[in-house]
Formats: sequence, C-alpha cells, structure tokens
Amino acid sequence: MQIGLFGGTFNPIHLGHLRSAEEIQESFQLQQIVFIPSANPPHKEGRDIISPLHRIEMVNLAIAGNPAFSTSEVEISRPGKSYSIETIDRFKEMQGKGLTLFFIMGMDAFTEIITWKDYVSLFSRCNFVVTTRPGYAVTDIETILPSDVAGEFSYIPEEDRFSHISNFSLYFRDITPLNISSSVIRRRIKEKKSVRYLLPQAVVEYIKLHGLYKDS
Ligand code: ATP
Repeated sequence: MQIGLFGGTFNPIHLGHLRSAEEIQESFQLQQIVFIPSANPPHKEGRDIISPLHRIEMVNLAIAGNPAFSTSEVEISRPGKSYSIETIDRFKEMQGKGLTLFFIMGMDAFTEIITWKDYVSLFSRCNFVVTTRPGYAVTDIETILPSDVAGEFSYIPEEDRFSHISNFSLYFRDITPLNISSSVIRRRIKEKKSVRYLLPQAVVEYIKLHGLYKDS
C-alpha cells in the first residue's frame, strides 16, 4: 500500500492543493492521498486561521467524489501544536507493515523544513515529495539543508531521486504551476472580490454560507 500524506492548513483548500495531490498520486501511483488539516500550525501562529472544523469540512467538500482522496483528523484531534513527525509516526503505527508513505509538500514548505520539529529524523521516517510552486525557486538540497544533513543523501540520476542513508527517498517533482494561495483567497474575500475558479465551487458556497474570512 502506497499512501501520500498531504499536510496543510487548508485555510481554505484550493485548486493548487488539489492539482498537486492529483499529479503526485498519478505519477507515484499512490492508492490514497490523505489530506491532513493541521489543528494549530506552529509556523502560522497569529494568522487568521479559522476553526479546524470548518477547514476539514471544506476539504471534505473539495474531495467529494474522488475515491483516491481522503481526510484525516489525526492532527485536529490531537491536543497542542501539530507536528508532522508525530503525524507520520501515527500513520506508521496505524497502518503497520506493508505501508509506504510519501509525505508531500510544496517548495515553500521545504525551504522551511529545518525549522520543523526533529526535522533531521524526518528523513528516516518516510519518503518525501517536494513539488514546484510558483514564486518559490527550485534550489538544491545543499542550499536548504546543513551540509551534514545534505550529505546523508545521494542523487540517483536514473530515478531522479535523492536516496537517504535510511533508504527512504526525497523526490523533487515539477507540477502544473498554479499561482494560488489561501492567503490571496482570504484577502480577496475580505475585499469582496471574486474567488470563483480558484477553489471548488462547493467550497466557495460553504464560505459564503458561513460568512467565513469576511473580517480578520
Ligand atoms: P497560506 O497562503 O495561508 O500560507 P497556502 O496556500 O500556502 O496557505 P497551505 O495549506 O499552507 O496553503 O499549504 C499546504 C501544502 O500545500 C504546503 O506543502 C504547500 O507548499 C502546498 N501548496 C499550497 N499551495 C500550493 C500551490 N499553489 N502549488 C503547489 N503547492 C501548494
């Protein structure tokens, strides 16, 4: 069983998230992509993050009808801050042997990975897939990771992957560039501008129905 874990604030989920999940699911032939909204993201404190219940509901609306996409409440039901390392460990515990995990993130998230809890040991936990994202340059791992950590990887050109000493891999993959972000969507709603076609219509309607993001 090969599963992609896609963590995020999803405040709200948009087509950039969905397209990334779709393309990675297809190219890695993953059985499932699990969207994992974070409860209390350590990197986004103080931003206008609405209730996790609204955020998960919007993810559910966005993925409805796609049997390869699902959501997990592991982070929203865990008290305290949401750390990816704990989420990965939880999935490994729940699924047991025979599970191959691919943790998916955009380039913007990867450039901050050294600020994540126990980030060095993350690479010994599962595979990582880093996707391109408009506005974030593709850089080499030596630029992002300290040299001793980068030195634990070796590039395998035939498979276009970095193999870690743990035998897990780090992949960089180009995806269709969609310059969409949740923050721009929130700003546009505040400014009473259209957000149609940036996110699924069912999510646009949910936002309207609940009057979300109107004030900061
Ligand atoms: P915000 O604008 O509020 O910071 P965001 O749009 O970056 O939010 P997140 O929920 O923080 O959305 O992102 C979750 C994951 O999805 C991250 O790994 C991020 O890199 C990735 N991601 C978000 N938007 C895109 C996009 N347009 N293209 C590719 N990856 C994306």
